[in-house]
Parts: sequence; structure tokens; C-alpha cells
Amino acid sequence: MGVRASPARDMHYQSTRGTAPILDFKGVTLAGLASDGGLYVPERWPQFDAAAIEAMAGLSYTQTAFRVLQPFVAGSLGDDALKALIAAAYADFGHPAVAPLVQLDERHWLLELFHGPTLAFKDIALQLLGNLFGHFLGAGETLTIVGATSGDTGSAAIKAVAGRPGITIFMLHPAGRVSEVQRRQMTTVLAGNVYNIAVDGSFDDCQALVKQMFNDAPFRAEMALSAVNSINWARLLAQIVYYFYAAVRLGAPHRKVSFSVPTGNFGDVFAGYAAARMGLPIGKLLVATNVNDILARALNRGDYSVGAVTPTATPSMDIQISSNFERLLFDLHGRNGAALAAVMSTFEATGKMTLSDGQRTEAAALFLAENVDEARMMQALQWAYSECGQLLDPHTAIGLSAARARAAAMEGPIVTLATAHPAKFPDAVERASGMRPQLPRRVQHLFDREERYDRLAADADALKAYMRARTG
Ligand SMILES: *Cc1c(COP(=O)(O)O)cnc(C)c1O
Repeated sequence: MGVRASPARDMHYQSTRGTAPILDFKGVTLAGLASDGGLYVPERWPQFDAAAIEAMAGLSYTQTAFRVLQPFVAGSLGDDALKALIAAAYADFGHPAVAPLVQLDERHWLLELFHGPTLAFKDIALQLLGNLFGHFLGAGETLTIVGATSGDTGSAAIKAVAGRPGITIFMLHPAGRVSEVQRRQMTTVLAGNVYNIAVDGSFDDCQALVKQMFNDAPFRAEMALSAVNSINWARLLAQIVYYFYAAVRLGAPHRKVSFSVPTGNFGDVFAGYAAARMGLPIGKLLVATNVNDILARALNRGDYSVGAVTPTATPSMDIQISSNFERLLFDLHGRNGAALAAVMSTFEATGKMTLSDGQRTEAAALFLAENVDEARMMQALQWAYSECGQLLDPHTAIGLSAARARAAAMEGPIVTLATAHPAKFPDAVERASGMRPQLPRRVQHLFDREERYDRLAADADALKAYMRARTG
């Protein structure tokens, strides 16, 4: 029976820019960003044939996770350790299915990814990553995490590492540009190893600051920096699981399934790309953006050029530079690290890159892209509530709007990833539906708790001084 993906062989990871050391899974998890400024990718995609996918029918979420993750961690984690880490990561979820599918109509489904402790899909990866850090960090070793958040990564990462010995976390969010629930989910965690920083600037400014911390090699070594943003491979890895889990439930490997993915940093949808490269029969992956549409422009017209960030009701997608797009570009450049390093350095200098027609055609075999403005987002939210009785968060509504608009071009059932609980964005949801979503009981304490955070200018030296004063 073909339940094994491929013969057990240690997995190694290489940088998209070609010159950083090759690392094993433990190495990439602790490193985050590669030392040459690139992102780590697996040296090969483990293959799951039809028999291996068929054998996933009826497995639980955690059993599916074990099958999908095993070949990627080979050489760093034994089977028992991997099983224990997966079990611990998903034990706190508020739904026994972890990621339940909900049917909307004969064509459209939602995959609810928001049943974790902070109510967004980021928990699915970060709960595992927190446990991996704990497992890989030796006694007496320390790790400093620095991350940027447009709202949801921050709370999920803080929740995953608060109180863990040896780890200090610095989380940057753009001041005034995250929802109140999002902010409180970060700033009310008063554990001594957690520092929240409101940066005067946009999410892209926060992300650029984080990159500057990593690109300063002595500082990076001095602090033992690691990343919790989706530049960390382990995050994307954990997200591959739910593409398999959902597709198997909807008929894979015997029919194709398509996905609509509300996208910001291209992390979630890259995990879908990985699933397709591993053999999962995916029809199309729809990259759904809000008006910050750099990815839609890149995939539809070849124009990957940075514009100004427009704040919207979907702050987790208010992004103009999508870090993980580099991982796709690596494949589109024939996995040639030197060629991509040259392209990325021009892009970093000019804010512009053009995809060739050949690259665009190659991407279009799997990807579609659609940008959705606020009015269409609201219509999708209203439709789901009035026709299906489902309240959606605004990010999910962007995904559903795109899915309904492009359904004719997508094969099979269409799964929209429901990336956040509607109660994380109550004002936007109420404006569209007339209903004010209730926070689940387990998070209702948020509004009674003390908040703690500091405010900093978007300045790398100020941030380094702040971090040095609070570690070691
Ligand atoms: C992070 C996030 C997104 C975007 O995911 P990416 O991996 O950055 O593309 C979409 N919706 C919500 C609710 C999020 O928190």
C-alpha cells in the first residue's frame, strides 16, 4: 500500500539566492531568513501519488499532518517526536475537526481555519512553530524572535511563545492600522518575554525593519535572531496540510479541487502551490487581493511594481511587497539562485520587476488572480449571510467574491480559505451584514485586560538599541 510519500531520505533546504549554507529542517526552522537575504526552499518536493493521497481518506487533521510533514522533517525529527509536536499544536483548537469544511452552495465551500487560540489561520502554523522552537532549543540556549505583523501573525506568534524559556519576542505592528481586537490580542499578553512595538509607519515599513535586523550579520548572530513571519519555512510547511485535508474530503485524488486564497504575503497560497507540486490534484489557485493588488498585477500583466499601501477593512492583506513571492520566482527562474539574486537586488533598488511572458504563462497554468474592492467585498459578505446564513470576516469575503467571479475558470469544487473569525473585524462585518459577530467565549476577556506596548519610529538603529536593552 502506497501510504509512504517517498522512501525516507533526509531533507535539505537551499536559499532562493543561492549562496547561503544548505540546512536541514532544524536549521531552517531556527534560522528563518537565509544569510544571503533569500528564503529557504526544499531541495525537492516529496511526491504523493494517487495511492498515497487515497490513503488519507478518513484520516484526522493531525494524522494528515503527520503524513504531509514527515518527508520534510526527515533527518531532524523522528516519527514519535513529530507526532507529539503535532498533537500539542492542535490540542487547544476550538473545533474537533481543527479545520472544518462548510458548504455554501453546490459549487462553493469554506475551509474554516480560524478555530485556533487567536481566531485566524496563522495559529495553524504558529502553534506548531512555537512547539518546534521549544523542541529544537537546547537547555541554556536562547533565541530572539523579531517579527512584523499586519495584525494576525503577531497575536498568534505571541500566543505560541509567551512564557517559553530561552525565547524573547519583539513584535512590530503599524501603529493605528490593526483592528482593536487584533491589537488587544497582542498587547494584553503581559509575559516577561513579550515586547510589542507600535511603529510609526505601514506594515511594509515594519517588514523592512525586520529584514534590516536579519541583514545585519553581527547583530543577527549576537541576538540569535529567528523569524516567525512566513519567511520561516516551517510556517508554510504547516499550511500545506490543510490543502490535502480539504481536497481529500472533496474527492481528491479522483477529482480536482480549486482554492481561492485571500492573499497578502503570498505565504498561504504558496503552501497551495507546494501541495500541487507534491502531487495533489489542484485545479486552480486563485490569488485574491484587495485594492493593494501588486500580486494581481504581477500575475495578470507581469507588472510586479510597488505602489503606496492603501489601508482597507482587510488589514492583513494591506501589503505591497509579498515576501514569499520570491519562492515562486525562484522556480520561475529555473531554480537558479544567482539569476534570482540579481533580479531581487534590482527590485530592491528600484521597486520594479517585470515577469516575462514565458514566466507568466508558466504561473498561469496553476494561478489565477483577482483584485476585489471594498464594495465587492461587502456584497460577498452580504450574500453569504443572506443566502447561506454564514457570517464571514472581510478577508474571507475578498476570497469568496473572487471565487464567485472566476468560478467558470476553476475546475472542481471551489474552496475559499476562511482565514479569520468574523469577530476579529466586528465593525466591517456589522456594516455589511447588520449583524455584530460575537467573540467566542474563550476570548471574551480581551476588553477587560491591561495593555502594554511601546511606540517607536521606523528606524533600524532605534529598534536595535531597544532590542539590545531588553535581551542578554
Ligand atoms: C495573514 C492573513 C492573510 C494573508 O495571508 P498571506 O499568507 O500573508 O498571504 C489573509 N487573511 C487573514 C485573516 C490573515 O491573517
